Amino acid sequence: MNATLITNGSVIDGTGAAPRAESVLILGDKIAATGAAAEAQAAQLPGVHTMDVAGCTVMPGLIDGHCHISFDEPNSNDELFFHRRHGLAAITAARNARRVLQSGVTGIMDADSIFEIGVDLRDAIEAGIITGPRISTGGYALWTSVGGTAGRLIPDRGVMGYGKVVAGRDEIIAEVRRQIKGGVDWIKVHVTGLVPRHPLGGEVQSWSREELRTVCAAAHELGIPVLGHCRGAGAIVDCVEAGMDLILHATLMDDRALDVLVKHRTPVMPVFTFLANLADYGARIGADDTVRAMFRREIADSAQMLRRAYDAGVPLLCGSESGFSITPYGDWHYREMEVFVRELGLTPLQAIQCSTQANAFAMRMAGKVGEVLPGRLADLLIVDGNPATDVTVLGDAARLKQVLLGGRSVDLTPDAPRRDPPGWRVSTYGARLGKDVAAGAPPPPPVDLTEP
Ligand SMILES: [Zn+2]
Repeated sequence: MNATLITNGSVIDGTGAAPRAESVLILGDKIAATGAAAEAQAAQLPGVHTMDVAGCTVMPGLIDGHCHISFDEPNSNDELFFHRRHGLAAITAARNARRVLQSGVTGIMDADSIFEIGVDLRDAIEAGIITGPRISTGGYALWTSVGGTAGRLIPDRGVMGYGKVVAGRDEIIAEVRRQIKGGVDWIKVHVTGLVPRHPLGGEVQSWSREELRTVCAAAHELGIPVLGHCRGAGAIVDCVEAGMDLILHATLMDDRALDVLVKHRTPVMPVFTFLANLADYGARIGADDTVRAMFRREIADSAQMLRRAYDAGVPLLCGSESGFSITPYGDWHYREMEVFVRELGLTPLQAIQCSTQANAFAMRMAGKVGEVLPGRLADLLIVDGNPATDVTVLGDAARLKQVLLGGRSVDLTPDAPRRDPPGWRVSTYGARLGKDVAAGAPPPPPVDLTEP
């Protein structure tokens, strides 16, 4: 059995506690002891391997609560829905899973995937067939026919991309049961979405209260939790009161929504990274200034309410929306913590807790991962630097010295560069060529900003 004593590190345990200089003893796939107990126990064991990590931080592996491992960084829903093949998507997802793990992410939740690949990928990783982070997964996201995150690309019935349209009580129950039979860890519902030309503007609630109660009851009867993509106060109230277990985004809350959320202590995952990346860096990829300002406003407007929720005891979870062209795998998984510190005023240690201990809930592994404590799985990072003062060091690949998954060291050698398989991306003629552009005016922005 693997017996390793990690010495001379500064340990961030994931609970929000300040770093401590202490040893960590790993036996097999678990943390056996920390501090003086670890050293005493190690002294009694023959053949303990000592890992001296002087100057480094030892902390739980990051958990990314919102990572679309099957998407392969599309530019648009068109690309994702109409340019992917089942087998190739699964093979590509396996490579992307390894990349995510190599960036220090030892667990992800993938709430919805094309071809329901998340289930297969999770099982292949658990069986040791491929290497990747621990995965908790949904199947197809559930839509009603009026809309969700893909506007008019959503069909009136059936499967499209990462989602499936359900019509009425019987179909909702049948689909929930079908997914649970298939092995999902979560049921995902797109509760709100953009409906082109709808008079209300913004995201419209596309599920009735009765439908939300139906989906929660059908899943809960079989012991499976439900999460909802949800923007807007009314939808948040309806989801929480229907018994939903996790709210994604939860932006645009009012006081009533906040009250209901606090009363139920329903965890919230804001998923700001996608918006923050466009707001901060969008100009470099040609994103329109008005859209960038809109995304910045959504973060700023929501930050205060989410901070009040956090202060009142609502768990905040970190999710990065990795898997789009704006959030490529391996680069941005730390970023939500940076936004929590900058926009919500959390301390770095609080933000780390959101990405580790609290996020074990998204993994459905609370008390098993996300903490450097005796009895937890030994999913650990060795980082050259102090994330307790600056979480962005967790986004610096050069500082990530080791990743341990279940006590085993992960090979951090990057894969050779890849190309895109033929027909994999949407190709365009380029931007619109008006006479003004021909005469030298700047072309319109090429970025598709379909909201995830
Ligand atoms: Zn998403």
